[in-house]
Amino acid sequence: MFIIIKIKKKIVVILLIIFFISILLVGVKDNIRYIFKISYRSYYNAEFSFIDIEYLKNNLELIDLDYNWNEDLIFNNEPNKIIYHHCARSYWSPEGINDYHKERGWKGIGYNFYVRKDGKIYLGRPENAEGAHTKGENSNSIGICLEGNFEEESLSKEQWESLINLSTYITLKYDIYKIVGHRDVYDTLCPGENFPMNEIKNEVIKNIKNYKNTKF
Ligand SMILES: [Zn+2]
Repeated sequence: MFIIIKIKKKIVVILLIIFFISILLVGVKDNIRYIFKISYRSYYNAEFSFIDIEYLKNNLELIDLDYNWNEDLIFNNEPNKIIYHHCARSYWSPEGINDYHKERGWKGIGYNFYVRKDGKIYLGRPENAEGAHTKGENSNSIGICLEGNFEEESLSKEQWESLINLSTYITLKYDIYKIVGHRDVYDTLCPGENFPMNEIKNEVIKNIKNYKNTKF
């Protein structure tokens, strides 16, 4: 009897060891990484320097606008997630969104970045300022909004490229462990049915994995 229990215990221990080793070898899938908040850059052992981050940033050609904030911003954002949004309109300027968000009683545009259909990337709220884009996540995330209504249309090629580059930059710069759409963390359709969430995430991961071998 004791021998059987002992053997069973051994089997359980062996199975547990196999389970954990396979997780480590096969790759910690998103859900497991999410639980332990393991960032992409540490999981993929990305090797990069401050200079690399600056290089990535310069390539984005970020456009800065004067949003004339309604009130002083609160600088308490410590990003560990990227949250994607669509503006739910086929055409909308960043100035238009800024006005609209002010009308809603906010300080100004609520997103940290806005990517237009032509691929141009506009700065919104400073990265270290509290956002106004996702309830409960505005002081621990970077909110990226895309021009378009992805319930009906799809990302343009230029938009896709800019979004991948921007997301790679943000993921390396901060301790990002989660890349999600608004609807993954809140009851909403945003960023729309046609938003290629998994493809984007995989492309960012591919960039980060390659980073180990990239020398500038
Ligand atoms: Zn949204």
